[in-house]
Amino acid sequence: MSKPPVIFSIGWNACINCGACVAICPQEAGFISPFDTIAVDRPCDIACLLCEQICPVDTIDHVVAPPPETALT
Ligand code: SF4
Ligand code: SF4
Repeated sequence: MSKPPVIFSIGWNACINCGACVAICPQEAGFISPFDTIAVDRPCDIACLLCEQICPVDTIDHVVAPPPETALT
């Protein structure tokens, strides 16, 4: 059974822009936010959660992404 896609939130005040979340992420290079972290506006369908585990300030959180047909546009 595959994991459900997740959407991340990042505490921008806590983020120190270390780049660790992007460096460890196996998503494609474009999976990145304007603030040089992992993307927060696109569901992640890999959901390995390595980004959360590696963040040195523990400021990445996630929720399960809503199914596409119910997603708000
Ligand atoms: S869960 Fe894994 S694949 Fe998804 S954004 Fe985090 S590190 Fe990247
Ligand atoms: S790992 Fe954490 S502190 Fe580092 S850039 Fe990503 S969100 Fe920011």
